Amino acid sequence: MGTIEVETTAANLRSRLDKERAAGRLVGLVPTMGYLHGGHASLIDAAVAGNDLTVVSVFVNPLQFTPDEDLADYPRDMETDLKVCTRHGADLVFTPAVREMYPESGLPVVEVGDLAFCFEGASRPTHFPGVVSAVSRLFQIIGTCRAYFGEKDFQQLAVVRQMVADYSIPVGVVGCPTVRAHDGLALSSRNAYLTSAEREEASVLHRALQVGAEIVVGGETDPEVVTALMAEVIDAATTGELDYVAVVDPDTFETPSRITGTGVRLLVACQFGQARLIDNMGAVPA
Ligand code: AMP
Repeated sequence: MGTIEVETTAANLRSRLDKERAAGRLVGLVPTMGYLHGGHASLIDAAVAGNDLTVVSVFVNPLQFTPDEDLADYPRDMETDLKVCTRHGADLVFTPAVREMYPESGLPVVEVGDLAFCFEGASRPTHFPGVVSAVSRLFQIIGTCRAYFGEKDFQQLAVVRQMVADYSIPVGVVGCPTVRAHDGLALSSRNAYLTSAEREEASVLHRALQVGAEIVVGGETDPEVVTALMAEVIDAATTGELDYVAVVDPDTFETPSRITGTGVRLLVACQFGQARLIDNMGAVPA
């Protein structure tokens, strides 16, 4: 295994990538906050398969943490991250300092409307504005590319797609399926916060999504019936504090009055001790 290239400055990375593009090569980008697991690795695999050069960014973005979340406690392990990137065939890791991402001179403000303030955005109002600041800056630094995001963070994927469309950013956004543990729990860096008892209980989120999806597939058209059943499954299996369960249109994130043939996305967010976990699943009537 060779030593992977690590870049810390925006200017060097940009000129390197401009040369690649001038030579006709396609650039893939996988934005992450590090502490890489199998979910991140699947994005790297997709980027490597679809492009000539893959950049993984590792940046723990202070702006997307809410004041009550402890940025300092966010898990970090750069040595392992570099190994994961190398093993999965990435070419370059971009690890900018906060000042490199957010210069003192400031950044243009990028706004994405209502999508950023419902569900995750309602519970954490500064979260998506923070995500959008980092991702837009990253897109400016990297330039034309394909960028890979996980469906695990389904609302984030929608917010990024909206931003790219609204600001005509020359980036192709690719959504990738959620990678799960053997019991269905979506892999997440935040799972590191779970106690072993909480870890066992947390698989109920996936079970609730499956139960909800099953009745949608079976013909249930009332979103309230679906969310009530999902909440019941979760309440019965955990002392974790349910934040929301929802049935939404996958593009607008509005709850339809009836579920129709085009299908819906089921969303769930739950606090298990120190860890706030989210998950989602698509459901289309048979
Ligand atoms: P994070 O490091 O948590 O900011 O995540 C970086 C990227 O990895 C985001 O696009 C996430 O949606 C994606 N991701 C995180 N967990 C998973 C997972 N279990 N399966 C697929 N993608 C994931």
